[in-house]
Amino acid sequence: MLLTFVPADNFTLDHGEDATITYLFNKHIIRHRFCKTCGAQPFAEGEMDGKAIWAVNLRCVPAANLDALKLNKFDGASR
Ligand SMILES: [Zn+2]
Repeated sequence: MLLTFVPADNFTLDHGEDATITYLFNKHIIRHRFCKTCGAQPFAEGEMDGKAIWAVNLRCVPAANLDALKLNKFDGASR
C-alpha cells in the first residue's frame, strides 16, 4: 500500500462508491474501504488532528506517477 493523506475537503470520489465495502478494525475510528470484488483497499476515511481526512492508496490511482514520488517509509510493525 502506498498512502497519501488528503483533507476531506480536497477529496472527491467520482465513481465506484457502491463497489466498496466498509470495515472497522480495532477502535472503529477509521473507516477502511475495500473493493467488493478483489479486496484491495483503495482508501480509508478518518480524522487527523481533529480534521476529517482521507488516506488514499496511490496504487489504486491509475493516473498517479509512482516513480515521481518521494517516499516516506513507515514501519508499522515496530511502532
Ligand atoms: Zn477491485
